[in-house]
Amino acid sequence: MPIKKTLVAKKVPSLKKATSEDGIPLSTVIRRRIQAQKARFHANDNIAEFIKPGDLEGLVDEVAQKMQGVLESLVIDTESDHNTRNTSFRVAKMFVNEVFNGRYVSQPELTKFPNITHLNELMIIGPITVRSACSHHLCPIMGKIWIGVLPDKDSALIGLSKYSRITEWVMCRPQIQEEAVVELADLLEKKIKPTGLAVVMEADHFCMQWRGVKDPDSKMINSVMRGSFLKDSNLRREFLALVQRKS
Ligand SMILES: [Zn+2]
Repeated sequence: MPIKKTLVAKKVPSLKKATSEDGIPLSTVIRRRIQAQKARFHANDNIAEFIKPGDLEGLVDEVAQKMQGVLESLVIDTESDHNTRNTSFRVAKMFVNEVFNGRYVSQPELTKFPNITHLNELMIIGPITVRSACSHHLCPIMGKIWIGVLPDKDSALIGLSKYSRITEWVMCRPQIQEEAVVELADLLEKKIKPTGLAVVMEADHFCMQWRGVKDPDSKMINSVMRGSFLKDSNLRREFLALVQRKS
């Protein structure tokens, strides 16, 4: 087997893709588009409608340049240290194309099916794996989500895999767990129009484990109850009991 070459030439982030013709950084160009529409661009907002084809590639370049500056300010010799030579690029790609991608791409298509057989029994979907990061430290949040749906005859049902897709889309942004579950519940409620909806999220916050209090066992659990889950304590109990048994 050929030996994999580990030393690669230093990739210098290209300024070309990251700046407009008059030298304005691409992030500024995008920010101006957003501000012209008076839209919000917090860490957990999706800004896909302001992103044009090719912009993400340019953003990777811009983030890489700035990440290189961070490494330099951390006094890391990225020129002789082969481990960090392309770190700025790797981190930029990871942020834009992977872990924060839910900010930049459009909502996944959620094909809806009419509730032909008039299902009105509790459905539980989960555990859905959650990979996110906290807005405060950009530290990973790793956890699970359970979704409870009580449909009625007018509800629209979505395919099982779509629950994972929409969860991933919301979570692949810097988030605050309590806001993330509410956002997910709002989206599902709007789409499915169920009689009741419940979302429970349990997660490890690496900003509690890796830094700060360094408490490896602390978890955060949040729940959002809507409609019949709020009004009917038996339904709520049934959902929580089933979720606990499966976790
Ligand atoms: Zn944090």
